[in-house]
Amino acid sequence: MDEQPHRPRTRILPVEQRRGPDLAAVLSLGLIAPAFISSLVVMVLLGSIVWPSQSWVIPVVWVLSGVVVFVPAIETVLAKGLFDMHEPSVRDLSRLEPVWASVCRAAGVNRERYRLWIEGSKGLNAFAAGGRTVAVTRAALDLPPHLLEAVLAHELGHHLHGHARVSLLGWWYQLPARGAIVLVALVAKGVLAVGRFFSRFGGAAVVLASVLLVLILLAGVVYLNPWLLLMPLLAPVVAWSSRLGEYRADRAAATLGYGPALRDVLKGWLAAAGGDRRTWRARVLASHPAHVDRIRRLQSS
Ligand SMILES: [Zn+2]
Repeated sequence: MDEQPHRPRTRILPVEQRRGPDLAAVLSLGLIAPAFISSLVVMVLLGSIVWPSQSWVIPVVWVLSGVVVFVPAIETVLAKGLFDMHEPSVRDLSRLEPVWASVCRAAGVNRERYRLWIEGSKGLNAFAAGGRTVAVTRAALDLPPHLLEAVLAHELGHHLHGHARVSLLGWWYQLPARGAIVLVALVAKGVLAVGRFFSRFGGAAVVLASVLLVLILLAGVVYLNPWLLLMPLLAPVVAWSSRLGEYRADRAAATLGYGPALRDVLKGWLAAAGGDRRTWRARVLASHPAHVDRIRRLQSS
């Protein structure tokens, strides 16, 4: 592992590395569409049930709410309440701030635009979310500064190319559709459980009736909201788009001069995991590429 501090080489970005949404961000935005429409159908149904005389209000407010998640105060609430993040201590900041400042200097961006957080999970990881959230786990704080810089440069790449904003928007607009799926699954499980319970007394006819009821329920859901079916079907494409975003963020870090240090981090992860043992299916649905593939691309960039 290279223990020498890795200094950024350049602040002049080549054309393909200029800021703004890149191909991964645009693709991810397009792939939000089926989940967005599924959720919109859910909100239209909800609006017509809860407030039939003004059924447009709930769906319109929900569509507009996509802007609200980027309000700094709301992003803070989401970070604390839903993403298991907390404020860094003075000691954490003394470690994190200089490293983040160095990355922002290399990229020529104002570090005050972003807010630093500690994420609560155990492993070594870092996150970029929304318009200004940058988080690291406690284990990441123990990295040598030049490796932590490389990790943060990757996260800054997600911000500079629009991945973090699109990701938060996608997460937000999927919530009603996901909520509907969970609700339908719970109702179906409940009906089947009741059927199984009464089958002890009434025989197979009760089980058959409960299965038929569940099938009718599912057919009704598909009839009302066929877009829901597209979500699992598109999962491999969404995962591929996310992996493309990871490669792009790696390339952004490499352009700032952090390629060798980022490779060292990935090699460390690869060694700690004992290689990539994911199944073929897990790889297809993974949001992140295999470490070995990222290392290879960084070597050739
Ligand atoms: Zn990433």
